[in-house]
Amino acid sequence: MENLKNFYINGTWVKPSSKTTMRVLNPANETQVGFIGLADEDDVNSAVEAAYSAFKGFSQSSKADRLELLLNVKSITERRLEELAQAMCLEMGAPITMARDAQADAAIGHLDGFIEALKNHQERTRLKNGDILIREPIGICGLITPWNWPMNQITLKVLPALATGCTCILKPSEHTPISAMLYAEILHESGYPPGVFNLIQGDGGTAGAAMSKHPKIEMMSFTGSTRAGKAVTCDAADTVKRVTLELGGKSPNLVFSDCDLEERVTASVAECMFNSGQSCDAPTRLLVQKECYEKVLLIAKTAAENTKIGNPEIEGDHIGPLFDEIQFARVQKMIQQGIDEGATLLAGGLGKPVGFETGWFTKPTIFCNVSNNMRLAREEIFGPVLVIIPFEDEQDAINIANDTPYGLAAYIQTGDIDRAERVAAKLRAGAVHINGGGIEYGTPFGGYKQSGNGREGGVMGIEDYLETKSLHGLN
Ligand code: NAD
Repeated sequence: MENLKNFYINGTWVKPSSKTTMRVLNPANETQVGFIGLADEDDVNSAVEAAYSAFKGFSQSSKADRLELLLNVKSITERRLEELAQAMCLEMGAPITMARDAQADAAIGHLDGFIEALKNHQERTRLKNGDILIREPIGICGLITPWNWPMNQITLKVLPALATGCTCILKPSEHTPISAMLYAEILHESGYPPGVFNLIQGDGGTAGAAMSKHPKIEMMSFTGSTRAGKAVTCDAADTVKRVTLELGGKSPNLVFSDCDLEERVTASVAECMFNSGQSCDAPTRLLVQKECYEKVLLIAKTAAENTKIGNPEIEGDHIGPLFDEIQFARVQKMIQQGIDEGATLLAGGLGKPVGFETGWFTKPTIFCNVSNNMRLAREEIFGPVLVIIPFEDEQDAINIANDTPYGLAAYIQTGDIDRAERVAAKLRAGAVHINGGGIEYGTPFGGYKQSGNGREGGVMGIEDYLETKSLHGLN
């Protein structure tokens, strides 16, 4: 933890120039576990200068050298995986079993996806017309990540930048700095030249904005709220940076009466509550065919009431607290909003679960009889809150599903595979999960509409960090 209050710039841990600090709290018991410095513009400039100097050499490194470095990252990450899992348990309240099996596991899974993609990547190709295309690293990349899947987001950005020969500055969420600090230690030990990877801790308004505006940064890759994604886009406009965005969602989950209702509805509720509902692609709008609506309500209510809540440090499949007091207050406000809008509370509700008065624990909550124009159905809540909306037929389900500013994911539960394909083709979302089909590492991830642009992971994740140069006259 010694490095927590420092930044990793130009291959070494340095004291921040800024004197502003922020406490890091354990959301399960509200105790302080450390503090970080919040970077100011001078800190951002130092990190950018380091990345700028390192780019000259690293952009010319061979693919073989970069593959070897990624293999170093793999073996060191494997050795330190438990530390990463424990860090996320501490800083964001991820229950330790899922912190290991999902949160930390992503650091290896995405790495494997990028290693495979880089091996197959063609840096030089010849077109049929004789011209040659060269793919080159775009330059200095500013990477900003959220707190809800810390290692997942960090590896989805840092690894493709390093794989392609870019240099970068990572600014993780100020709420989850510990896992990011450990990852900087892993990259340091992996042997990257000084300045290739730099870490600053800081908030969005100061450090994030200074990165988005910085004239030497050529690309911003941002994951977080749609609100902040728009701010990054505006700040980056003056210097015409490439901006890739992974933003919020309000993903529909279409339940048709021909599926195995008991199994699919129980799993759907669990998926919404996973990570305490703090996943951008969580299936938070359960759209249910009218003929099985009453039956689904009974199954969903039982599933919510059976959702275990527990101390994140204890092994098991329970959910933990929300990451912070701010998030707890936001979620409580949205539950109150649902009550005020006239939706019916089917399970959970306001307040903390009995026995969890300390920490930001929240009751798994379901509202039914929700209409898609209620705020409850339109806004991302980012807590364990599911809304249930009835539909008449396939076309009605598609209309409601697409009636949202977001388009990150969609889910379909049906026993009819032809229907699944037909409906999936009409859903405006970056991923469609059919009967529980999960994401595989290496598959592109990203959204339509206000859920963002660009794709992360595997081949398409690497593409985002490349420029294309065409050579004419070498026939
Ligand atoms: P947030 O937008 O508040 O913060 C995300 C990051 O952006 C943090 O590092 C923060 O410091 C920074 N930031 C905030 N304002 C900024 C600004 N003006 N300029 C630059 N940086 C700024 O989001 P959060 O609460 O940390 O994360 C939750 C959000 O992230 C949810 O909306 C969720 O859906 C989204 N998310 C999306 C994906 C995806 O892949 N689509 C994945 C995970 C989370």
